[in-house]
Parts: sequence; C-alpha cells; structure tokens
Amino acid sequence: MMDFAFDNSFHDAMDGFYAPAEAVRPSAPRLLIFNLALAERLGIDAVGTTDEQLADIFSGRQLPEGAAPLAFAYAGHQFGHFSSQLGDGRALLIGEIVAPDGVRFDVQLKGSGPTAFSRNGDGKAAIGPVLREFLVSEAMAAMGVPTTRSLAAVATGDRVQRERAHPGAVLTRIASSHIRVGTFQFFAAHFGADHVAQLSNYSIGRHFPDLADAANPHLALLDRVIDLQCELVAHWLGAGFIHGVMNTDNVAISGETIDYGPCAFMDRFAVKTVFSSIDANGRYAYGRQPQIMHWNMARFAEALLPVIHAVDPADVDRAKALVDGIPERFRDIWFSRMRAKLGFSQADEADVALIDALFAELELHAIDFTSFFRALAQLLRGDGAMLAALLPDADTMAPWIADWWAHLERETIAPLERADAMDEVNPLYIPRNHKIEAALAAAEGGDMALWLELLEVVRNPYIARAEWADYAEPAPADAGPYTTFCGT
Ligand code: AMP
Ligand code: MG
Repeated sequence: MMDFAFDNSFHDAMDGFYAPAEAVRPSAPRLLIFNLALAERLGIDAVGTTDEQLADIFSGRQLPEGAAPLAFAYAGHQFGHFSSQLGDGRALLIGEIVAPDGVRFDVQLKGSGPTAFSRNGDGKAAIGPVLREFLVSEAMAAMGVPTTRSLAAVATGDRVQRERAHPGAVLTRIASSHIRVGTFQFFAAHFGADHVAQLSNYSIGRHFPDLADAANPHLALLDRVIDLQCELVAHWLGAGFIHGVMNTDNVAISGETIDYGPCAFMDRFAVKTVFSSIDANGRYAYGRQPQIMHWNMARFAEALLPVIHAVDPADVDRAKALVDGIPERFRDIWFSRMRAKLGFSQADEADVALIDALFAELELHAIDFTSFFRALAQLLRGDGAMLAALLPDADTMAPWIADWWAHLERETIAPLERADAMDEVNPLYIPRNHKIEAALAAAEGGDMALWLELLEVVRNPYIARAEWADYAEPAPADAGPYTTFCGT
C-alpha cells in the first residue's frame, strides 16, 4: 500500500479547532483519474499501487496508515451575511504531508460523506462538479494562478440525489492549508482572543515563518494575507476568471484559489459578468472581485483586531490603515499584471489611461478576452489575421491599437521578443464554458475521452497547436447565457 508519511500538525497542535470524522464507505469505487505529476511533486510514491487500491484510498474506503481524518470548523460571511456555524460539511482532511522540498500540504477528500458540520447536507458530491473542479483547478495551476490542486477523482458507485440523481464521486484536493478567513471568524465569534491568537500563531508557523519575529506578528499576518489576496485577485482578473462565491469561508489565508463551485471564465468581455445561479445581484461579478476582496480583508482584520490590540494597542490604527490601503495596493499589482499582458516591460503613468481605455473598448465591442491578448502578440509578429477575426471591422479599435503601438515603441525590447513574453503570460487555451459542459455531459454518461482531452489542452495553455484550434474559440455567439451552480 502507498506510503504517505503523514505528519498531522493541525490535528496534533490544534485540538478543539476541528471535529474528528470518518468517510462513508462507497459501494463500488472506481478510479476516474489520478494526477501522477502532482503525486510526484508531493513525494507520494504510487509505483506498484493498482487502480483499485488508488480508488479505495481516494474514495475513503480504505484510508492509508497514519491518516487522522477530521473536519475543520469555520464560520463565514455568505453574500454579506454572517453564518457563525459552517465548517467542512462534505470534506474530510485525511492528513498532512511534507513534500521532498519541505513544503507542507493538506490532503482532503471532498464528497466522502457527512461530518459534524453537515447540517442537512448529505456530505456527498456528484461526478460533474468533481470533474469540473479537477479540470479548472489544474488549468489555473498551469496558468500559474495560486490554487489548490486535484490529486484524484474516484466514482463511488453510489447515486447522489440533487434536483435529480447523479453518479457520486470523491475529489482529492491538495491545499497548502485549509485555513480560511472564516476559520478565524469562527474562533473570534465563539471562543475569543486566546483561540484567535493560537490560530494566528499556527498559521504564521505553517505559512509565514518569517513573520514570527515581527514586532506584532498578528499585524504582520494581516499585511501578508492582504498582499496575497491582492495578487490572487489580480491573477483572476488577468485570466478572465470569476470565482463566483467569494464568501469569507471561501478565502484561504495561503492566497490560493479555493472552493471551486460556480466559477467560470468569461468569453466576450463584460465587466458585470456573473455566471452563478445564486448571485442574482451580481455581488461577485467579474469587475467587483477587487472590492469584495477588500471587504473580505476587512472581515479578516476584525477577527484579528483583539489579538493585534493585545500586543500593542497602537497597532489597531495600523491595521485599519492596512485595510484602507487595499485599493491602492491592488491597483499597483493589477497594473503591473496588465503591463505584462500588453507587452510593456516598464511602468509609465500614461499606460494607466491606455489600460482603462482598453477595457472600455473590449466591453463596447464584446471582444473575446482571452484571444485578444494573443492577437496583439501576433500583430507584433506581423500577422494581423487573428486580431481582424476578433473585431467587427477593420477600423474598430484602430486608435487604441495605434496608442498601444506608440507606447511599445518607447521601449527598448525588440517586437519578437516582446511577443514571446506576452505569449508566456496570456493563455491561449482556457477551460471554455461550452467545452466544459460538453466534456462533463459525456463523462457523466461514462465516456471520459472528451474530458481527458480538455484536461490535456488546459494543462498546456500557452503553446498553440493546430489540432487544438477549436479549443481557442469562444462559445458560438448564439449559445445563449451560461449559468453555473454550486450544486455538489
Ligand atoms: P461552499 O459551497 O463550499 O461555500 O459551502 C458552504 C457550506 O455548505 C460549507 O460549510 C459546506 O461544507 C456546506 N455544504 C455544501 N454542500 C454540502 C453537502 N452536500 N453536504 C453537507 N454540507 C455541504
Ligand atoms: Mg466553501
């Protein structure tokens, strides 16, 4: 049997911060996919382990030696309203492993049955959302976006009842940790400052050991988490990604994208794009994500304030200043990301207006967001065909393109070199909504071929391949609005 060499630091050091839990034994587990490259990165030796054994392990049927299964307690603001009692209702941490490079990871099963926090839920997951998370999280990783990863997906052989019955599945998620803003909120709400301090100290020791010697480590933690969240949301906007449910319980303090639910990538640019069926007011629309991140960080600061205050009352004002500074901090990070997407290597005040104007143009002409940046790089190579195909007519955006070109000419890097640098940050292949839906429909019917092909495509987002031309196309214009669901 596979050796995980578990080292369960949260279980051992944080008694009272979780509930022990067990997986429900599935009736007929069958391996759908195992992520061998990720297993290697984690130092898990899968050589000699059969698919049947993998299916048993990653469905929770037979947990490996040293597993200490538990469900995390957390609270959270959901669509702005505080729920004091959430927690892992359909997830089970089986243990932590330390990779060969010394980095520690949580190994968690999602959909393995009810826990103490399930309330009325069944703790299960259907195959569609499991394969969707696998695909999108692996695409994000390939694009260099901080994210949890997917190690395995196993069909359980059982049915899961949603609006209708679906085949059940379990996802194995790998995260730098599952500590969320909502985890801090839970202990702030129910237990007070000593528990928050314990959680903060654990988080610093695990994620940010360099902060342990700061004058006020809890203030330093706030500062670092804000930094990581600014980076993360800038990544999302740059990729055209909409998380869809940025509740505080879905914000990991590690700065990784977590809890893939109704998330999706937009095709044609529209700043108000929302896909989630439950987001009627557009709270988590594409363009609102920076503001929501700011709001979420204010909730994080509130949970930390008593412990920040206990170290030095004067630091309360510093915490407030950190939160107030988020829009400016985000803006700097966002503009540097946009400069890279546009091929600029040096900052220049004039590019702010150019970038703002770009979004107005993309919106006005409903241009495919992903393809546009690739088309600009092609233009630098002397090939205008891709851009022409995206624009309604030859004059569209001509003044903006001229400005962009003039801006580039102030730089010293040669056009071809610049085009290559752009292609390294602008994906050509993202998980397009219509492609995901087609792949999931086939997979639910038992045919994994389309899903496996799509996975291969999104794992290689930057290099154009003739046989994948179709994957770079947006949904047909008459495809109608796309709706996503939380429904695991
Ligand atoms: P999420 O959609 O991940 O933000 O989930 C919000 C809360 O609902 C979390 O506490 C989940 O654990 C819980 N939850 C979602 N689906 C289920 C389910 N099928 N069974 C039990 N709990 C669930
Ligand atoms: Mg969640």
